[in-house]
Amino acid sequence: MIIGFIGLGIMGRPMAKNLINAGYKLVVYDKYAKTDDLTALGAEKAVSNKEAAARSDLIITMLPNSPHVKEAVLGPGGVIEGIRAGSTVVDMSSIAPAVSQELAAALKVKGVNFLDAPVSGGEPKAIDGTLAIMVGGDQGVFDSVKPILEKMGSSVVLVGEVGAGNVTKLANQIIVALNIAAVSEAFVLAAKAGVKPQAVFEAIKGGLAGSTVMNAKVPMILDGNFKPGFRIELHIKDLQNALDTAHNLGVPIPLTAEVMEILQALKVDEQAASDHSAIVRYYEKLAKIEVRS
Ligand code: NAD
Repeated sequence: MIIGFIGLGIMGRPMAKNLINAGYKLVVYDKYAKTDDLTALGAEKAVSNKEAAARSDLIITMLPNSPHVKEAVLGPGGVIEGIRAGSTVVDMSSIAPAVSQELAAALKVKGVNFLDAPVSGGEPKAIDGTLAIMVGGDQGVFDSVKPILEKMGSSVVLVGEVGAGNVTKLANQIIVALNIAAVSEAFVLAAKAGVKPQAVFEAIKGGLAGSTVMNAKVPMILDGNFKPGFRIELHIKDLQNALDTAHNLGVPIPLTAEVMEILQALKVDEQAASDHSAIVRYYEKLAKIEVRS
């Protein structure tokens, strides 16, 4: 089994390493990033998306957003030009569910299977191989690639037909964004009231307000460490996909719209490349106080 891995960024690189460590043969391609560390581990390098597909039995893509995946798979020199009938493309990027369905339909014409399989857990879980992977597609195709996905994630769940993986991921991203905003709002209040943020964290993290988001992001906030992790610009992309998808379905999502404007304000404030925990900076500016230990 040769796996073509396309998109070796913050997430794709450690995911590819876990596949190499599990004994799979990889052919890697990234349009911009270097792949020398992966070739040093035994991966082979392709010079295009088409070539990566032509040399592989299964293609995994881990790219920023819908246009990048469309370009890499369907564009000139793309996966679709090199891939063989009977192969499978697994897109693990977080993109618009409607685009996943578009990709599946275009690949089906060539006899190629498609799964959308976005992930949650961020860089630390990508490194540990403990991502949560939410998959949309046919049961049979899912069963055939599940053992490979299990090398990158500790939870691999088929949630429905193609597109369902990315619908689930949009739900995940709404919950994460609103949760970081709620944590930020609360901790700025506590700091301005003169209560030590570290003490607030210790006191409430085991109660009902506690969350994976709180455990991951409050230590970063207290350290003033906003190195990504998950960049604000990527969360803007996810919330835009959530807003578009929701509006097309006739679902108002007012809190998501509110947090989107907070992220837009941070982008104007040159924070687009910061971790999404920098949402706290928006609140810190409003209240003229910093939440630090
Ligand atoms: P990234 O920007 O670090 O990596 C994307 C890679 O894709 C880059 O190396 C880029 O050079 C490459 N690329 C772009 N266009 C390409 C093309 N046409 N052909 C080949 N390569 C191309 O992004 P990331 O943080 O690794 O995120 C990837 C996806 O995973 C995104 O959809 C993101 O929303 C999702 N995600 C990220 C995190 C996180 O914490 N970073 C967590 C969960 C999900």
